[in-house]
Amino acid sequence: MPHALTLNAGSSSLKFGLFELGDGRGEPAPRILGEIDRIGSEPHMRATRQDGTLLSDAPLPGEDAADHAGALARALELIARDRPHAQIVAVGHRVVHGGPDHAAPVVLGPAMLDRLAALEPLAPLHQPHNLAGVRAAFGAFPGAVQVACFDTAFHRHHPWVNDTFGLPRAYYDKGVRRYGFHGLSYDYIAGRLAEIAPHLHAGRVIVAHLGNGASMCGMIGGRSIASSMGFSALDGLPMGTRCGQLDPGVVLYLMQHEGMTADEISDLLYRRSGLFGLSGLSNDMRRLEQAGTDAAREAIAYFVFRIRRELGGLAAALGGLDALVFCGGIGEHSVPIRRQVCEGMGWIGLELDEARNTRGETVISTDLSRVRVLVIPTDEEIVIARAARDMLAARRAAG
Ligand code: AMP
Repeated sequence: MPHALTLNAGSSSLKFGLFELGDGRGEPAPRILGEIDRIGSEPHMRATRQDGTLLSDAPLPGEDAADHAGALARALELIARDRPHAQIVAVGHRVVHGGPDHAAPVVLGPAMLDRLAALEPLAPLHQPHNLAGVRAAFGAFPGAVQVACFDTAFHRHHPWVNDTFGLPRAYYDKGVRRYGFHGLSYDYIAGRLAEIAPHLHAGRVIVAHLGNGASMCGMIGGRSIASSMGFSALDGLPMGTRCGQLDPGVVLYLMQHEGMTADEISDLLYRRSGLFGLSGLSNDMRRLEQAGTDAAREAIAYFVFRIRRELGGLAAALGGLDALVFCGGIGEHSVPIRRQVCEGMGWIGLELDEARNTRGETVISTDLSRVRVLVIPTDEEIVIARAARDMLAARRAAG
């Protein structure tokens, strides 16, 4: 039975999905979804079947998942136990950076892998780990088609003014640009909108992907016009542990007056800032909402404030607004955050229906609200599985 495997390798985690491809023309059907985290220290594997049946929720011996190749081997053992007849014919990888040229998924081979490795300086905290997952999969499935799906690809049609910084032109030419990220999530949401509300999909939409990583994207006709994230995954909204938008003068100050090295600043901005740094408590929104301390409340207030600012800016970039979509762990589940983001937004024609918001309905705006507000659970894995299916079909058609 032909299946696609999806892999999303982070610095110390590996998310995996097994999808049945059937005749290769229909929607890939999820069979197993799982994640191994704390790779290299205290690895733990959690995996479920599509119906929610738990297949694993247990620590792994450290030496069994000492690196991504080891973690992949453990995931494949679990898959083989549960679905012994699954034949993996395609592997789809989430790769954070595709550089300025890739606006669509690509088939991976040694030359492409080298080109993507050359982009590592642009995403040092993600790209090397993504590619470690690719190399592990090449070892495990030498005969399968391997496909890279880029977080940057969805944003490659930005108008130049939202693709550049105000630096000398030579830096743009060298690749110092606003790439934008979370593209797989935005791609999924654009596709869902086309299905459930085609008139909104055709219009001006802001999507707020609010998870541990957070960004916002302005779209017209399902295409990204502007994103809150820029050159790196640090820009825009504050996140679990990342700072979000920052005056570059702060970085100069840290270097010149605090004597911090590049590595120390990187650690500060990526791992010790955002909700965690502001609250001094946690990067986890649920914990902050429950904590009720002044610092936790202020961290949430800053998060909400930046979302509202970005919403105004993106609406101006789009020339108005027809719909706002919430997704990501916080966007999909936090009733209070959605309420606070939408409060007093009548000036833009947006009115939240508090009862619908509390019930977590798909449409949470009032019937009279000119701007529709929706909650759409995102699904990056299915976007990767579809790309793997399509590349496999293209390869077969080419003979
Ligand atoms: P993600 O990275 O998309 O998995 O989102 C993770 C974030 O979503 C964490 O900050 C969680 O605390 C947050 N989250 C998940 N469920 C809820 C909830 N019911 N209320 C508030 N935040 C939530």
